Amino acid sequence: MAGIPPPIREPELKYTQIFIKNEFVNSVSGKTFPTVNPANAKKICDVQEGDKADIDIAVAAAKEAFKIGSKWRTMDASKRGSLLLKLADLIERDAQQLASLETLDNGKPYMTAFFEVLFSAGVVRYYAGWADKVHGKTIPVDGDYWCFTKHEPVGVCGQIIPWNYPVPMFVWKIAPALAAGCTLVVKPAEQTPLTALYCASLCKEAGIPSGVLNVVPGYGPTAGAALTGHADVNKVAFTGSTEIGQLILQAAGQSNLKRTTLELGGKSPNVIFADCDLDSAVKEAQEGVMVNAGQCCVAGSRTFVQEEIYDKFIEATKKLAEERKVGDPYDLQTYYGPQIDEEQFNKIMDLIQAGQKEGARLVTGGGRLGDQGYFIKPTVFADVKDNMRIAKEEIFGPVQNIIKFKTMEEVIERANDTTYGLGAAVFTNDLNKAMTFAQAVQAGSVWINCYNVVRIQAPFGGFKMSGIGREFNIPSSPAYGVFISQLIRYARASTKYTDFVLRA
Ligand code: NAD
Repeated sequence: MAGIPPPIREPELKYTQIFIKNEFVNSVSGKTFPTVNPANAKKICDVQEGDKADIDIAVAAAKEAFKIGSKWRTMDASKRGSLLLKLADLIERDAQQLASLETLDNGKPYMTAFFEVLFSAGVVRYYAGWADKVHGKTIPVDGDYWCFTKHEPVGVCGQIIPWNYPVPMFVWKIAPALAAGCTLVVKPAEQTPLTALYCASLCKEAGIPSGVLNVVPGYGPTAGAALTGHADVNKVAFTGSTEIGQLILQAAGQSNLKRTTLELGGKSPNVIFADCDLDSAVKEAQEGVMVNAGQCCVAGSRTFVQEEIYDKFIEATKKLAEERKVGDPYDLQTYYGPQIDEEQFNKIMDLIQAGQKEGARLVTGGGRLGDQGYFIKPTVFADVKDNMRIAKEEIFGPVQNIIKFKTMEEVIERANDTTYGLGAAVFTNDLNKAMTFAQAVQAGSVWINCYNVVRIQAPFGGFKMSGIGREFNIPSSPAYGVFISQLIRYARASTKYTDFVLRA
Protein backbone atom coordinates (compact mmCIF):
# COMPACT_ATOMS: atom_id res chain seq x y z
CA MET A 1 0.00 0.00 0.00
CA ALA A 2 1.23 3.47 -0.89
CA GLY A 3 3.18 5.26 1.82
CA ILE A 4 3.90 2.20 3.93
CA PRO A 5 7.52 1.09 4.08
CA PRO A 6 8.01 -2.53 3.06
CA PRO A 7 8.47 -5.19 5.74
CA ILE A 8 11.92 -6.27 6.83
CA ARG A 9 11.80 -10.06 6.62
CA GLU A 10 14.78 -10.54 8.90
CA PRO A 11 14.65 -7.66 11.35
CA GLU A 12 17.65 -7.10 13.57
CA LEU A 13 17.25 -8.73 17.00
CA LYS A 14 18.77 -6.01 19.14
CA TYR A 15 17.10 -6.56 22.50
CA THR A 16 16.75 -9.95 24.14
CA GLN A 17 17.68 -9.17 27.74
CA ILE A 18 15.82 -7.99 30.83
CA PHE A 19 15.42 -4.20 31.04
CA ILE A 20 16.01 -2.78 34.52
CA LYS A 21 17.12 0.76 35.45
CA ASN A 22 17.48 1.65 31.78
CA GLU A 23 20.00 -1.14 31.16
CA PHE A 24 19.68 -4.50 29.42
CA VAL A 25 20.91 -7.22 31.77
CA ASN A 26 21.01 -11.02 32.02
CA SER A 27 18.70 -12.95 34.33
CA VAL A 28 19.94 -13.73 37.85
CA SER A 29 19.53 -17.46 37.19
CA GLY A 30 21.32 -17.28 33.84
CA LYS A 31 18.33 -19.02 32.24
CA THR A 32 16.91 -18.16 28.83
CA PHE A 33 13.79 -19.21 26.93
CA PRO A 34 13.20 -19.50 23.20
CA THR A 35 10.78 -17.31 21.30
CA VAL A 36 9.32 -18.94 18.21
CA ASN A 37 8.09 -17.74 14.81
CA PRO A 38 4.53 -19.12 14.58
CA ALA A 39 4.59 -19.00 10.78
CA ASN A 40 7.18 -21.82 10.64
CA ALA A 41 7.50 -23.03 14.26
CA LYS A 42 11.24 -22.26 14.21
CA LYS A 43 13.10 -20.61 17.07
CA ILE A 44 13.84 -16.92 16.45
CA CYS A 45 16.25 -16.46 19.36
CA ASP A 46 16.71 -17.02 23.08
CA VAL A 47 15.55 -14.37 25.51
CA GLN A 48 16.73 -13.88 29.10
CA GLU A 49 14.22 -15.54 31.40
CA GLY A 50 13.25 -13.44 34.40
CA ASP A 51 11.80 -15.05 37.51
CA LYS A 52 11.21 -14.03 41.13
CA ALA A 53 14.80 -12.82 41.69
CA ASP A 54 14.66 -10.52 38.65
CA ILE A 55 11.18 -9.28 39.56
CA ASP A 56 12.48 -8.40 43.04
CA ILE A 57 15.28 -6.32 41.51
CA ALA A 58 12.94 -4.64 39.03
CA VAL A 59 10.35 -3.82 41.71
CA ALA A 60 13.08 -2.38 43.96
CA ALA A 61 14.23 -0.19 41.05
CA ALA A 62 10.66 1.00 40.42
CA LYS A 63 10.16 1.66 44.13
CA GLU A 64 13.34 3.71 44.32
CA ALA A 65 12.37 5.71 41.23
CA PHE A 66 9.03 6.49 42.92
CA LYS A 67 10.61 7.85 46.14
CA ILE A 68 9.61 11.35 47.23
CA GLY A 69 12.32 13.67 45.91
CA SER A 70 13.32 11.36 43.05
CA LYS A 71 13.84 12.75 39.56
CA TRP A 72 10.49 11.30 38.47
CA ARG A 73 8.51 12.53 41.48
CA THR A 74 9.88 16.06 41.19
CA MET A 75 9.46 16.30 37.44
CA ASP A 76 6.79 18.74 36.20
CA ALA A 77 3.72 16.93 34.99
CA SER A 78 4.01 18.76 31.67
CA LYS A 79 7.57 17.41 31.33
CA ARG A 80 6.23 13.86 31.79
CA GLY A 81 3.84 14.70 28.98
CA SER A 82 6.66 15.91 26.74
CA LEU A 83 8.62 12.69 27.36
CA LEU A 84 5.58 10.73 26.26
CA LEU A 85 5.27 12.89 23.14
CA LYS A 86 8.90 12.07 22.36
CA LEU A 87 8.19 8.38 22.92
CA ALA A 88 5.25 8.54 20.49
CA ASP A 89 7.54 10.12 17.87
CA LEU A 90 10.14 7.39 18.38
CA ILE A 91 7.52 4.64 18.03
CA GLU A 92 6.47 6.20 14.73
CA ARG A 93 10.07 6.64 13.62
CA ASP A 94 10.71 2.92 14.15
CA ALA A 95 7.31 1.69 12.95
CA GLN A 96 8.82 -0.38 10.13
CA GLN A 97 11.26 -2.10 12.48
CA LEU A 98 8.67 -2.63 15.22
CA ALA A 99 6.02 -3.95 12.83
CA SER A 100 8.51 -6.30 11.17
CA LEU A 101 9.59 -7.62 14.55
CA GLU A 102 5.97 -8.09 15.60
CA THR A 103 5.21 -10.05 12.45
CA LEU A 104 8.19 -12.29 13.11
CA ASP A 105 7.38 -12.94 16.78
CA ASN A 106 3.58 -12.97 16.67
CA GLY A 107 2.73 -13.98 13.09
CA LYS A 108 0.26 -11.18 12.44
CA PRO A 109 0.29 -9.65 8.96
CA TYR A 110 2.82 -6.85 8.55
CA MET A 111 0.12 -4.42 7.41
CA THR A 112 -1.89 -5.06 10.56
CA ALA A 113 1.21 -4.80 12.73
CA PHE A 114 2.19 -1.54 11.07
CA PHE A 115 -1.21 0.04 11.74
CA GLU A 116 -1.16 -1.26 15.30
CA VAL A 117 2.19 0.47 15.83
CA LEU A 118 0.78 3.75 14.49
CA PHE A 119 -2.31 3.32 16.68
CA SER A 120 0.00 2.74 19.64
CA ALA A 121 1.92 5.95 18.97
CA GLY A 122 -1.47 7.71 19.03
CA VAL A 123 -2.29 6.13 22.41
CA VAL A 124 0.98 7.43 23.87
CA ARG A 125 0.30 10.88 22.42
CA TYR A 126 -3.21 10.90 23.87
CA TYR A 127 -1.88 10.16 27.36
CA ALA A 128 0.90 12.74 26.97
CA GLY A 129 -1.91 15.28 26.95
CA TRP A 130 -3.37 13.87 30.17
CA ALA A 131 -0.16 14.27 32.20
CA ASP A 132 -0.88 17.81 33.38
CA LYS A 133 -4.66 17.63 33.25
CA VAL A 134 -5.49 15.38 36.18
CA HIS A 135 -7.36 17.76 38.46
CA GLY A 136 -8.84 17.44 41.92
CA LYS A 137 -12.00 19.08 43.26
CA THR A 138 -12.95 21.48 45.99
CA ILE A 139 -15.84 20.27 48.12
CA PRO A 140 -18.18 22.56 50.11
CA VAL A 141 -18.25 20.53 53.33
CA ASP A 142 -20.27 21.64 56.36
CA GLY A 143 -18.56 23.89 58.90
CA ASP A 144 -15.71 26.34 58.79
CA TYR A 145 -13.49 24.17 56.64
CA TRP A 146 -12.09 24.06 53.19
CA CYS A 147 -11.84 20.62 51.62
CA PHE A 148 -10.17 19.49 48.43
CA THR A 149 -9.09 16.30 46.71
CA LYS A 150 -5.77 15.69 45.04
CA HIS A 151 -5.05 12.79 42.73
CA GLU A 152 -1.92 10.85 43.54
CA PRO A 153 -0.13 8.29 41.40
CA VAL A 154 -0.76 4.81 42.78
CA GLY A 155 2.94 3.95 42.94
CA VAL A 156 4.65 0.86 41.52
CA CYS A 157 2.43 -0.78 38.89
CA GLY A 158 2.87 -4.39 37.79
CA GLN A 159 1.61 -4.83 34.26
CA ILE A 160 1.12 -8.26 32.73
CA ILE A 161 0.29 -8.38 29.05
CA PRO A 162 -0.79 -11.00 26.52
CA TRP A 163 0.56 -12.01 23.12
CA ASN A 164 -2.35 -11.11 20.83
CA TYR A 165 -1.61 -7.36 20.48
CA PRO A 166 1.88 -7.00 21.96
CA VAL A 167 2.68 -3.37 21.04
CA PRO A 168 -0.83 -1.94 21.68
CA MET A 169 -1.08 -3.86 24.97
CA PHE A 170 2.31 -2.53 26.05
CA VAL A 171 1.31 1.09 25.45
CA TRP A 172 -2.28 0.70 26.77
CA LYS A 173 -0.65 -0.28 30.04
CA ILE A 174 2.40 1.97 30.27
CA ALA A 175 1.09 5.25 28.81
CA PRO A 176 -1.63 6.07 31.40
CA ALA A 177 0.61 4.90 34.24
CA LEU A 178 3.52 7.09 33.10
CA ALA A 179 1.21 10.05 32.50
CA ALA A 180 -0.04 9.72 36.08
CA GLY A 181 3.53 9.58 37.44
CA CYS A 182 3.62 5.90 38.41
CA THR A 183 6.63 3.62 37.99
CA LEU A 184 6.34 0.23 36.34
CA VAL A 185 7.42 -3.33 35.94
CA VAL A 186 6.02 -4.89 32.78
CA LYS A 187 5.93 -8.62 32.09
CA PRO A 188 5.30 -9.31 28.42
CA ALA A 189 3.85 -12.63 27.28
CA GLU A 190 6.45 -15.36 26.90
CA GLN A 191 5.32 -15.93 23.29
CA THR A 192 6.04 -12.32 22.22
CA PRO A 193 8.75 -10.59 24.26
CA LEU A 194 10.64 -8.87 21.44
CA THR A 195 8.61 -5.73 20.72
CA ALA A 196 8.15 -4.92 24.42
CA LEU A 197 11.94 -4.97 24.85
CA TYR A 198 12.37 -2.81 21.76
CA CYS A 199 9.82 -0.32 23.16
CA ALA A 200 11.72 -0.30 26.46
CA SER A 201 14.80 0.93 24.59
CA LEU A 202 12.66 3.70 23.05
CA CYS A 203 11.47 4.74 26.53
CA LYS A 204 15.10 5.18 27.54
CA GLU A 205 15.84 7.12 24.36
CA ALA A 206 12.83 9.36 25.05
CA GLY A 207 14.42 10.31 28.38
CA ILE A 208 12.29 8.41 30.87
CA PRO A 209 14.50 8.28 33.97
CA SER A 210 16.23 5.15 35.17
CA GLY A 211 14.04 2.72 37.12
CA VAL A 212 10.73 4.29 36.05
CA LEU A 213 9.99 1.60 33.47
CA ASN A 214 11.34 -1.95 33.75
CA VAL A 215 10.54 -4.91 31.52
CA VAL A 216 11.03 -8.48 32.71
CA PRO A 217 10.31 -11.19 30.13
CA GLY A 218 9.53 -14.63 31.55
CA TYR A 219 6.77 -17.13 32.26
CA GLY A 220 3.47 -16.50 34.03
CA PRO A 221 3.70 -18.87 36.99
CA THR A 222 7.21 -17.60 37.85
CA ALA A 223 7.79 -13.97 36.81
CA GLY A 224 4.07 -13.09 36.50
CA ALA A 225 3.12 -14.61 39.85
CA ALA A 226 6.09 -12.96 41.59
CA LEU A 227 4.94 -9.58 40.33
CA THR A 228 1.31 -10.10 41.30
CA GLY A 229 2.19 -11.32 44.78
CA HIS A 230 4.82 -8.65 45.48
CA ALA A 231 4.09 -6.54 48.56
CA ASP A 232 5.81 -3.48 47.07
CA VAL A 233 3.64 -3.44 43.98
CA ASN A 234 0.69 -1.10 44.49
CA LYS A 235 -1.37 -1.94 41.45
CA VAL A 236 -1.53 -4.77 38.95
CA ALA A 237 -3.06 -4.39 35.51
CA PHE A 238 -3.60 -7.61 33.59
CA THR A 239 -4.91 -8.60 30.18
CA GLY A 240 -5.34 -12.28 29.38
CA SER A 241 -7.50 -15.27 30.21
CA THR A 242 -10.27 -15.25 32.82
CA GLU A 243 -8.67 -18.26 34.49
CA ILE A 244 -5.39 -16.42 35.13
CA GLY A 245 -7.32 -13.26 36.00
CA GLN A 246 -8.88 -15.17 38.89
CA LEU A 247 -5.42 -16.24 40.12
CA ILE A 248 -4.19 -12.68 39.87
CA LEU A 249 -7.08 -11.31 41.89
CA GLN A 250 -6.41 -13.88 44.62
CA ALA A 251 -2.68 -13.12 44.73
CA ALA A 252 -3.32 -9.36 44.73
CA GLY A 253 -5.72 -9.75 47.65
CA GLN A 254 -3.49 -12.04 49.65
CA SER A 255 -0.30 -10.01 49.24
CA ASN A 256 -1.26 -6.40 49.96
CA LEU A 257 -4.76 -5.80 48.56
CA LYS A 258 -3.19 -4.11 45.58
CA ARG A 259 -5.56 -2.40 43.20
CA THR A 260 -6.32 -4.66 40.27
CA THR A 261 -7.54 -4.08 36.75
CA LEU A 262 -8.46 -7.15 34.73
CA GLU A 263 -9.26 -7.25 31.03
CA LEU A 264 -10.22 -10.86 30.33
CA GLY A 265 -11.91 -13.14 27.85
CA GLY A 266 -15.28 -13.03 26.16
CA LYS A 267 -17.91 -14.86 24.15
CA SER A 268 -19.43 -11.81 22.58
CA PRO A 269 -22.82 -11.96 20.85
CA ASN A 270 -23.35 -10.29 17.51
CA VAL A 271 -27.06 -10.07 16.66
CA ILE A 272 -28.14 -9.70 13.05
CA PHE A 273 -31.78 -8.72 12.53
CA ALA A 274 -33.53 -9.42 9.24
CA ASP A 275 -33.95 -5.71 8.48
CA CYS A 276 -30.20 -5.01 8.44
CA ASP A 277 -28.02 -4.04 5.52
CA LEU A 278 -27.11 -7.66 4.74
CA ASP A 279 -23.87 -7.15 2.82
CA SER A 280 -22.45 -4.91 5.49
CA ALA A 281 -23.61 -7.21 8.32
CA VAL A 282 -22.01 -10.27 6.69
CA LYS A 283 -18.73 -8.46 6.25
CA GLU A 284 -18.61 -6.81 9.66
CA ALA A 285 -19.73 -9.95 11.51
CA GLN A 286 -16.98 -12.03 9.97
CA GLU A 287 -14.39 -9.33 10.43
CA GLY A 288 -15.51 -9.08 14.05
CA VAL A 289 -14.58 -12.68 14.73
CA MET A 290 -11.76 -13.46 12.30
CA VAL A 291 -9.62 -10.36 12.68
CA ASN A 292 -6.19 -11.20 14.12
CA ALA A 293 -6.89 -14.88 13.32
CA GLY A 294 -9.67 -14.77 15.91
CA GLN A 295 -7.20 -13.97 18.68
CA CYS A 296 -9.13 -11.03 19.99
CA CYS A 297 -10.80 -10.68 23.38
CA VAL A 298 -13.91 -8.98 21.97
CA ALA A 299 -14.29 -11.43 19.05
CA GLY A 300 -17.97 -11.64 18.15
CA SER A 301 -17.85 -15.41 18.35
CA ARG A 302 -21.59 -15.98 18.58
CA THR A 303 -23.31 -14.70 15.44
CA PHE A 304 -27.07 -14.75 16.07
CA VAL A 305 -28.98 -14.45 12.78
CA GLN A 306 -32.73 -13.92 12.50
CA GLU A 307 -34.49 -16.81 10.79
CA GLU A 308 -35.83 -14.84 7.79
CA ILE A 309 -32.30 -14.16 6.47
CA TYR A 310 -30.55 -17.17 8.01
CA ASP A 311 -29.85 -19.14 4.81
CA LYS A 312 -28.83 -16.11 2.77
CA PHE A 313 -26.52 -14.95 5.54
CA ILE A 314 -24.79 -18.33 5.70
CA GLU A 315 -24.29 -18.45 1.94
CA ALA A 316 -22.71 -14.98 1.84
CA THR A 317 -20.58 -15.72 4.93
CA LYS A 318 -19.24 -18.93 3.37
CA LYS A 319 -18.27 -17.11 0.18
CA LEU A 320 -16.47 -14.40 2.12
CA ALA A 321 -14.60 -16.89 4.31
CA GLU A 322 -13.44 -18.82 1.25
CA GLU A 323 -12.10 -15.62 -0.35
CA ARG A 324 -9.90 -14.73 2.62
CA LYS A 325 -6.19 -14.89 2.00
CA VAL A 326 -4.48 -16.66 4.88
CA GLY A 327 -0.76 -17.34 4.90
CA ASP A 328 2.60 -15.57 4.77
CA PRO A 329 2.25 -12.64 7.17
CA TYR A 330 4.87 -10.61 5.30
CA ASP A 331 2.68 -10.69 2.17
CA LEU A 332 0.79 -7.39 2.09
CA GLN A 333 -2.39 -9.08 0.82
CA THR A 334 -2.61 -11.51 3.74
CA TYR A 335 -5.74 -11.16 5.88
CA TYR A 336 -4.52 -13.21 8.80
CA GLY A 337 -1.50 -15.32 9.67
CA PRO A 338 -0.87 -18.28 11.98
CA GLN A 339 -2.19 -18.87 15.49
CA ILE A 340 0.32 -17.88 18.14
CA ASP A 341 1.62 -21.34 19.12
CA GLU A 342 1.05 -25.06 19.10
CA GLU A 343 -0.95 -24.99 22.32
CA GLN A 344 -3.46 -22.47 20.96
CA PHE A 345 -3.55 -24.29 17.60
CA ASN A 346 -4.39 -27.60 19.33
CA LYS A 347 -7.00 -25.95 21.56
CA ILE A 348 -8.78 -24.45 18.54
CA MET A 349 -8.65 -27.70 16.55
CA ASP A 350 -10.07 -29.54 19.56
CA LEU A 351 -13.00 -27.11 19.72
CA ILE A 352 -13.60 -27.41 15.97
CA GLN A 353 -13.79 -31.20 16.40
CA ALA A 354 -16.12 -30.76 19.37
CA GLY A 355 -18.39 -28.59 17.21
CA GLN A 356 -18.62 -31.32 14.57
CA LYS A 357 -19.18 -34.06 17.16
CA GLU A 358 -21.91 -32.10 18.88
CA GLY A 359 -23.80 -31.70 15.60
CA ALA A 360 -22.99 -28.21 14.33
CA ARG A 361 -22.90 -27.96 10.51
CA LEU A 362 -19.40 -27.22 9.19
CA VAL A 363 -20.01 -24.75 6.36
CA THR A 364 -16.39 -24.19 5.41
CA GLY A 365 -12.83 -24.61 6.73
CA GLY A 366 -12.29 -26.72 9.81
CA GLY A 367 -8.73 -27.78 9.18
CA ARG A 368 -5.08 -26.92 9.13
CA LEU A 369 -3.70 -24.81 6.31
CA GLY A 370 -0.32 -25.75 4.87
CA ASP A 371 2.23 -28.07 6.41
CA GLN A 372 4.27 -25.72 8.56
CA GLY A 373 3.44 -23.20 11.26
CA TYR A 374 0.09 -22.91 12.98
CA PHE A 375 -2.34 -21.83 10.26
CA ILE A 376 -6.06 -22.63 10.43
CA LYS A 377 -8.53 -22.19 7.56
CA PRO A 378 -11.29 -19.62 8.05
CA THR A 379 -13.96 -21.79 9.64
CA VAL A 380 -17.72 -21.26 9.71
CA PHE A 381 -20.24 -23.36 11.60
CA ALA A 382 -24.03 -23.07 11.16
CA ASP A 383 -26.90 -24.58 13.16
CA VAL A 384 -24.93 -24.00 16.35
CA LYS A 385 -26.88 -24.57 19.56
CA ASP A 386 -26.38 -22.55 22.73
CA ASN A 387 -25.25 -25.56 24.77
CA MET A 388 -22.46 -26.64 22.40
CA ARG A 389 -18.89 -26.06 23.54
CA ILE A 390 -18.19 -23.82 20.54
CA ALA A 391 -21.05 -21.55 21.66
CA LYS A 392 -19.89 -21.42 25.27
CA GLU A 393 -16.09 -21.49 25.40
CA GLU A 394 -13.74 -18.79 24.20
CA ILE A 395 -12.16 -20.26 21.06
CA PHE A 396 -9.63 -17.51 20.30
CA GLY A 397 -9.37 -18.70 16.71
CA PRO A 398 -10.83 -18.00 13.24
CA VAL A 399 -14.11 -19.81 13.90
CA GLN A 400 -17.48 -18.16 13.29
CA ASN A 401 -20.54 -19.77 14.89
CA ILE A 402 -23.89 -18.97 13.34
CA ILE A 403 -26.93 -19.42 15.57
CA LYS A 404 -30.57 -18.97 14.49
CA PHE A 405 -33.03 -16.82 16.46
CA LYS A 406 -36.60 -15.58 16.07
CA THR A 407 -37.42 -12.68 18.37
CA MET A 408 -35.81 -9.79 20.23
CA GLU A 409 -36.89 -11.10 23.65
CA GLU A 410 -35.42 -14.50 22.94
CA VAL A 411 -32.12 -13.21 21.57
CA ILE A 412 -31.56 -10.84 24.50
CA GLU A 413 -31.90 -13.73 26.92
CA ARG A 414 -29.66 -16.02 24.89
CA ALA A 415 -27.04 -13.31 24.27
CA ASN A 416 -26.81 -12.70 28.01
CA ASP A 417 -26.68 -16.39 28.89
CA THR A 418 -22.91 -16.43 29.37
CA THR A 419 -20.49 -15.79 32.19
CA TYR A 420 -18.73 -13.22 29.99
CA GLY A 421 -19.69 -9.62 29.12
CA LEU A 422 -17.03 -7.91 27.07
CA GLY A 423 -18.47 -6.89 23.70
CA ALA A 424 -21.75 -7.12 21.80
CA ALA A 425 -23.15 -5.82 18.53
CA VAL A 426 -26.45 -5.45 16.81
CA PHE A 427 -27.17 -4.99 13.11
CA THR A 428 -30.54 -3.49 12.18
CA ASN A 429 -32.03 -0.53 10.37
CA ASP A 430 -34.51 0.03 13.18
CA LEU A 431 -33.17 2.43 15.79
CA ASN A 432 -35.65 1.19 18.40
CA LYS A 433 -34.43 -2.36 18.01
CA ALA A 434 -30.81 -1.26 18.14
CA MET A 435 -31.31 0.74 21.33
CA THR A 436 -33.47 -1.89 22.99
CA PHE A 437 -30.79 -4.52 22.45
CA ALA A 438 -27.94 -2.19 23.35
CA GLN A 439 -29.57 -1.33 26.68
CA ALA A 440 -30.43 -4.93 27.52
CA VAL A 441 -27.24 -6.73 26.63
CA GLN A 442 -24.70 -7.16 29.42
CA ALA A 443 -21.49 -6.02 27.79
CA GLY A 444 -18.88 -3.33 28.38
CA SER A 445 -19.01 -2.19 24.76
CA VAL A 446 -21.95 -2.39 22.38
CA TRP A 447 -21.60 -1.61 18.71
CA ILE A 448 -24.48 -0.75 16.41
CA ASN A 449 -24.05 -1.66 12.72
CA CYS A 450 -20.29 -1.99 13.20
CA TYR A 451 -17.88 -4.12 15.22
CA ASN A 452 -14.68 -3.78 17.23
CA VAL A 453 -14.36 -0.03 16.92
CA VAL A 454 -11.97 0.73 19.78
CA ARG A 455 -10.94 4.32 20.33
CA ILE A 456 -8.56 5.70 22.89
CA GLN A 457 -10.95 8.42 24.05
CA ALA A 458 -13.56 5.91 25.24
CA PRO A 459 -13.15 3.43 28.11
CA PHE A 460 -12.82 -0.29 27.39
CA GLY A 461 -13.50 -3.30 29.60
CA GLY A 462 -15.92 -5.99 30.65
CA PHE A 463 -19.01 -6.89 32.62
CA LYS A 464 -19.21 -10.15 34.60
CA MET A 465 -16.20 -12.48 34.21
CA SER A 466 -14.75 -10.40 31.39
CA GLY A 467 -13.00 -8.15 33.83
CA ILE A 468 -12.77 -5.51 36.48
CA GLY A 469 -12.03 -1.84 35.85
CA ARG A 470 -11.49 -0.12 32.55
CA GLU A 471 -8.59 0.36 30.17
CA PHE A 472 -7.82 3.87 29.01
CA ASN A 473 -7.95 5.06 32.59
CA ILE A 474 -5.48 6.98 34.72
CA PRO A 475 -4.16 4.88 37.65
CA SER A 476 -4.24 7.52 40.35
CA SER A 477 -5.70 7.37 43.82
CA PRO A 478 -8.50 7.95 44.68
CA ALA A 479 -9.56 5.98 41.64
CA TYR A 480 -9.89 8.26 38.70
CA GLY A 481 -12.76 6.96 36.72
CA VAL A 482 -16.42 7.20 36.04
CA PHE A 483 -16.37 4.25 33.77
CA ILE A 484 -18.61 1.88 35.61
CA SER A 485 -21.54 2.17 33.30
CA GLN A 486 -22.08 0.34 30.08
CA LEU A 487 -20.87 2.22 27.10
CA ILE A 488 -22.86 2.12 23.92
CA ARG A 489 -19.83 2.72 21.86
CA TYR A 490 -20.29 3.55 18.26
CA ALA A 491 -23.17 3.44 15.93
CA ARG A 492 -22.31 3.35 12.29
CA ALA A 493 -24.82 4.95 9.97
CA SER A 494 -27.00 2.32 8.42
CA THR A 495 -28.91 2.75 5.20
CA LYS A 496 -31.82 4.62 6.72
CA TYR A 497 -30.01 7.01 9.02
CA THR A 498 -27.46 9.69 8.48
CA ASP A 499 -24.14 9.58 10.31
CA PHE A 500 -24.36 9.64 14.07
CA VAL A 501 -22.38 8.55 17.07
CA LEU A 502 -24.08 7.48 20.26
CA ARG A 503 -22.43 7.40 23.62
CA ALA A 504 -23.77 6.51 27.04
P1 NAD B 1 -2.75 -16.27 29.84
O1 NAD B 1 -3.85 -15.59 30.55
O2 NAD B 1 -2.22 -17.55 30.40
O3 NAD B 1 -1.47 -15.28 29.72
C1 NAD B 1 -1.54 -13.89 29.65
C2 NAD B 1 -0.37 -13.29 30.45
O4 NAD B 1 -0.46 -13.73 31.82
C3 NAD B 1 1.01 -13.76 29.98
O5 NAD B 1 1.92 -12.69 30.12
C4 NAD B 1 1.36 -14.87 30.96
O6 NAD B 1 2.74 -15.10 31.10
C5 NAD B 1 0.77 -14.31 32.24
N1 NAD B 1 0.49 -15.32 33.27
C6 NAD B 1 0.18 -16.64 33.09
N2 NAD B 1 0.03 -17.24 34.29
C7 NAD B 1 0.22 -16.29 35.24
C8 NAD B 1 0.19 -16.30 36.66
N3 NAD B 1 -0.08 -17.40 37.35
N4 NAD B 1 0.43 -15.14 37.32
C9 NAD B 1 0.69 -14.00 36.63
N5 NAD B 1 0.76 -13.94 35.29
C10 NAD B 1 0.51 -15.07 34.59
O7 NAD B 1 -3.19 -16.45 28.38
P2 NAD B 1 -2.60 -17.52 27.34
O8 NAD B 1 -2.25 -18.82 27.96
O9 NAD B 1 -1.51 -16.85 26.67
O10 NAD B 1 -3.87 -17.78 26.46
C11 NAD B 1 -4.89 -18.63 26.96
C12 NAD B 1 -6.25 -18.07 26.69
O11 NAD B 1 -6.36 -16.77 27.28
C13 NAD B 1 -6.56 -17.83 25.22
O12 NAD B 1 -7.01 -18.96 24.60
C14 NAD B 1 -7.61 -16.78 25.32
O13 NAD B 1 -8.84 -17.40 25.56
C15 NAD B 1 -7.22 -15.97 26.53
N6 NAD B 1 -6.52 -14.72 26.19
C16 NAD B 1 -7.22 -13.59 26.28
C17 NAD B 1 -6.61 -12.39 25.94
C18 NAD B 1 -7.35 -11.10 26.01
O14 NAD B 1 -6.98 -10.18 25.32
N7 NAD B 1 -8.35 -10.99 26.85
C19 NAD B 1 -5.30 -12.37 25.51
C20 NAD B 1 -4.58 -13.57 25.46
C21 NAD B 1 -5.22 -14.74 25.81
